[in-house]
Amino acid sequence: TSASPLLAVRGLNAWYGEGHALHGVDLEVFAGETVTLLGRNGVGKTTTLRAIMGLIRRRTGKVVFDGADLMRLPLHRTAHQGIGFVPEERGIFSTLTVDENLVLPPVVAPGGMSVEEIFDLFPNLKERRNSPGTRLSGGEQQMLAIARMLRTGVKMLLLDEPTEGLAPVIVQRIGELLATLKQRGMTILLVEQNFRFASRVADRFYLMEHGKVVAGFPTGELADRMTLLHEILGV
Ligand code: ATP
Repeated sequence: TSASPLLAVRGLNAWYGEGHALHGVDLEVFAGETVTLLGRNGVGKTTTLRAIMGLIRRRTGKVVFDGADLMRLPLHRTAHQGIGFVPEERGIFSTLTVDENLVLPPVVAPGGMSVEEIFDLFPNLKERRNSPGTRLSGGEQQMLAIARMLRTGVKMLLLDEPTEGLAPVIVQRIGELLATLKQRGMTILLVEQNFRFASRVADRFYLMEHGKVVAGFPTGELADRMTLLHEILGV
C-alpha cells in the first residue's frame, strides 16, 4: 500500500560515551501493527527503544513518528506526540498507590483514557487501587506501567520485555491485554525474549544483530525462518 508508516526509523546510530551501540537501525511500524524486535542479549534492542524516544543523547539518523521528526524534539515534546515507552524496570512510583500512579501523568491528550476506563480494561488494578506500587506483583506492576501510558492517550507503545520475570499465567494475561489494545487500534513495538509469547502477539518480526536490523519478516513466515532464528537466537 502507499500508506506511510506511523513510525519510521532510518540509519539510527547511538552511542554510550565512546561505545557505539547502534550501527544504522532501519525499521518501520504501520498503524495498528504489533512488531517484535528479537535478538540476543546486548545486540541493542533496548537501546533502539531508548534512542527512538530520545533518551540517549548521542544519536544520529532519522526517526519520524506520525509526521513529526523526533530527532529534533526535546524529550518532553516527544511524549506529547503520542508515543510512550514502558521500560523494563517499569517506571511506576513504588511508594504511591495504583490510583495515585494513574492520576499522576500530567499529559492527558485527546484519546487518553479516564481512570474508570482504565479500570474496565484492568479489573485487577481496580481491586488493588489503594495498594502502593511496592505491594503489587510483577504482573500488576507491568499492567500499571502500561495503564499509565494509556491515560496519556498514546497512539503507540514501545514495550521493553513486558513479560520478563512473570509467571506463565500472567504472561498469558499480558498477551490478552496486548490483543485487546490491538483491537482498539494501538500500535506496538515490542522487545521480547519470550519467543512463544512474541509469536502469539506479533504481526511481524525484526531480528537484530550487532546494533543493526538484519532481517524482517511477517509472523506467517516464522516456520520458514527457523534455521536463521536457531543460528542467531538459539531458539
Ligand atoms: P538486553 O536484552 O540484554 O538488554 P539489548 O539487546 O537490549 O540486550 P542493549 O541493552 O540495548 O541490548 O545494549 C546494547 C549495547 O550497549 C551493549 O553492548 C551494552 O553493553 C551497551 N550498553 C547498554 N546500556 C549501556 C549504558 N547505560 N552505558 C554503556 N553501555 C551500555
